[in-house]
Amino acid sequence: MIDQLVKGIRAKENIVLATHVRPDGDALGSLLGLATILEGLGKRVVRYLEEPAPGLYDFLPHLDLVETDLGRVLRFAEDCVDDIICITLDCGDFSRLGRSGPELKRIHPFWVIDHHQGNTGCGDLNWIEPQRSSTGEMVYDLAVGLGGDISKEAADCLYTAIVTDTGSFCYDSTTEHTFAVAGNLVACGAKPAVISQGLHDCSTFGRLQLMQQVLGTLKSFCKNQIGVIRVTQEMLESTGTTLEDCEGLINLPRSVKKVRVAAFLKEISGDSPGVSVSLRAKGDCDVAKVAAKFNGGGHRNAAGFKMSGTSLNQVHDTLLPVLEQALSA
Ligand code: 5GP
Ligand code: MN
Repeated sequence: MIDQLVKGIRAKENIVLATHVRPDGDALGSLLGLATILEGLGKRVVRYLEEPAPGLYDFLPHLDLVETDLGRVLRFAEDCVDDIICITLDCGDFSRLGRSGPELKRIHPFWVIDHHQGNTGCGDLNWIEPQRSSTGEMVYDLAVGLGGDISKEAADCLYTAIVTDTGSFCYDSTTEHTFAVAGNLVACGAKPAVISQGLHDCSTFGRLQLMQQVLGTLKSFCKNQIGVIRVTQEMLESTGTTLEDCEGLINLPRSVKKVRVAAFLKEISGDSPGVSVSLRAKGDCDVAKVAAKFNGGGHRNAAGFKMSGTSLNQVHDTLLPVLEQALSA
C-alpha cells in the first residue's frame, strides 16, 4: 500500500490535506507533519481546516499556514486540473469532514489515510489500519517510504499526533513499532518535554473551576464500573470557558480503578443544539460499538457520538442501559 501511495505522490505536484472537524492532536499533528514533509519534497501543499485549530494546540509549528477558506481551496484545485491529490487524515468516516466533505470529495483522486475501526473507506484509495496507534504513526511510515527529510518541525507534529492518540503511550494500541517511530522522531529533533508541556501544562483557573463543577456531577453505576460526568452551557459561561476546555476531563472518571467505562455528556449550543458524548473504555469493553448504536464512531477504547435536539437527561437515560449491556458483552 505504501508503495502505491509513494508512487501516486511522486506523480503529482499539488496536494490538499484535510482532517476531521474539531481536530485533535493526531488530526492536526498528522496534517501539519505531512504537509511539511511534502513541501520538503517540492510539493505545493494546502493545509485545510474547516475552522481554525483549537487553542490547545497553538504550540504546533506552521499553524499560521492553515487555510480555512474552502472557496480558495476549490479554486486552487480547479487551477491544478489533474495535477492534484486530496488526502484526508484521521477521518473515521466521511461525515467527520463536516460541511466541506462533499466539496473536497470532488477533487480526484481523493485518498483516505486513517486508523479508525469501522472506517469503510470513502476514497479512491484507502489506507486504513485500525490496529495502528495513530494516523501520525502511519504518516511517519509514509514519510520513510517517500524518502524525504523529516525536519524538526515535522517530527514535533508527528510526535504530538502519536503522544496524544496513545494517551502518552498508555493505550492498548501502543506497540513496539509506536515506540520505534517515537524514538526516530526524537532523533529527528522532536522534543518530548516541550510537547508534553504544551499539551498538559496549559490550564487556566477558569478550566480548574470548570473541572470542579464537572466533577460535582460525577455519578457511578453498575457497582462503580461506569462513571458519568456532564457539562452544561451554564457551567461554561460561569467559568468563562468553552467546550475546548473540556478536553481531557473524561480521564477523571476513567482514572477510577474500578471504572471500565467512562462517559462525558456535553451540552451543545449554537446552530444545532443537543448533546455530544465522549466514551472511554478500559480492557475488553468496546465503546466503538456503543457509539455506533448512536450513529457515532471511534475506537474500542475511545469513541463518541452526537445527538441533536435532545437534553442531557434524555441522552443519559438512553445511554445508560446500552453501557450496562456493553459491560457484560
Ligand atoms: P473525543 O471523546 O476525544 O471527542 O473522541 C474520541 C474518539 O471518538 C475520536 O477519536 C473519534 O474517533 C470518535 N468520535 C467522537 N465524536 C464522534 C462523533 O460525533 N462521530 C463519530 N463518528 N466519531 C466520533
Ligand atoms: Mn487518530
